[in-house]
Amino acid sequence: MAEIIIDYDKCDGADCGECADICPMEILVIEGDKIVVQCQEECSLCEVCMDVCPNMAITVKD
Ligand code: SF4
Repeated sequence: MAEIIIDYDKCDGADCGECADICPMEILVIEGDKIVVQCQEECSLCEVCMDVCPNMAITVKD
């Protein structure tokens, strides 16, 4: 199962939201001013969230 780790020291949260906009599985979502991970088990491991994050705050592990 995929493991998605957000480094909140680097993440700009809702001020950015690029990963939440692009995730095709709606796993990364904006909640308040934060990005949160939901239904991690449905992640397709496409890694586009890692590619779009300007702060390299997301790690996706298989
Ligand atoms: S790897 Fe793909 S499916 Fe998984 S959280 Fe990132 S964008 Fe969403």
